Amino acid sequence: MDIDALASGILASDRRALARGITLVESGRDDHRQMATELLEKVNAQGGGKSALRIGLSGTPGVGKSTFIESFGMMLIEQGLKVAVLAVDPSSARSGGSILGDKTRMDRLSREKNAFIRPSPSQSHLGGVARRTREAIGLCEAWGFDVILVETVGVGQSETVVAEMSDLFLLLLAPAGGDELQGVKRGIMEMADIILVNKADGDLKATATRTCADYAGALRLLRKRPQDPQGFPKALTVSALEEKGLAQAWDEMQALADWRRENGHWDSRRAAQARYWFESEVREGLLSRLSKEPLKGAMQALSHDVEQGELTAAAAADRFLRTYLQS
Ligand code: GDP
Repeated sequence: MDIDALASGILASDRRALARGITLVESGRDDHRQMATELLEKVNAQGGGKSALRIGLSGTPGVGKSTFIESFGMMLIEQGLKVAVLAVDPSSARSGGSILGDKTRMDRLSREKNAFIRPSPSQSHLGGVARRTREAIGLCEAWGFDVILVETVGVGQSETVVAEMSDLFLLLLAPAGGDELQGVKRGIMEMADIILVNKADGDLKATATRTCADYAGALRLLRKRPQDPQGFPKALTVSALEEKGLAQAWDEMQALADWRRENGHWDSRRAAQARYWFESEVREGLLSRLSKEPLKGAMQALSHDVEQGELTAAAAADRFLRTYLQS
């Protein structure tokens, strides 16, 4: 595979090159991994670090994520922006591609030449899905997308993973009866920059407005974060179906992004994210080497000695680490 040509293709906004690049970063093969690393390096070195707005979006199934992405994405396209949609769904391997597996979920958007929709890589392991999505973001950015939406259904740790790769994090919620706060975990609320209460239309409109006020109240009780201007995080109502409130939501997102850029929080957040991903790559890399030769065999041999009582666990571990990490 000609990595130079692939990199140039992506930088020249060639869609097929982008799709092939993403397939490469999604591959689990060792030789592909090396090529993927090379591709990301090349693209980055040649000015691929163009800055897209990366928006994370989480919400339970049925809340209207795909309807929102379709309407919101179309609105951005109509404003002349280029929009990529990626997903983090560690369960897609099991459920046969639940999230974004089916492009008809975003029928209009998927036919736009300035939109690009890519389903979650089918892997059961969240770390693997996270890395591939993050690398796909890098390629989409190099291609020239203005906005990159990263969707997750929020199972287990996936919101955290998506928040760690986005500039803004949106939480999509449904109108709720009574004053219950839909059992949204505090930790998830704390990650949200903007809460969008969807389905604020027809019979649900009044409930949505009440729900939105409840969440606005709950957000005010959270600890103030340095990366937030006055009034953030905030809660808004939208109707993805009737395309209402989307322009206002976009204004708020831009206002927040601008403020963070001007106040240095944008760069510091990206820097912290880069460090986080570097550390997690090192950790994952070390772990994966443990399950391959020669480390695997060396562990087994030492395990045997420990079992036989010939070495203590501590001494065996020390010998192993000294031998293989040369320290
Ligand atoms: P997802 O599972 O979060 O992607 O949710 P979908 O986008 O597939 O939407 C689930 C259901 O909610 C569908 O029947 C949608 O038509 C409906 N829905 C989505 N957005 C709205 C909205 O703004 N208003 C109303 N009334 N229904 C909506």
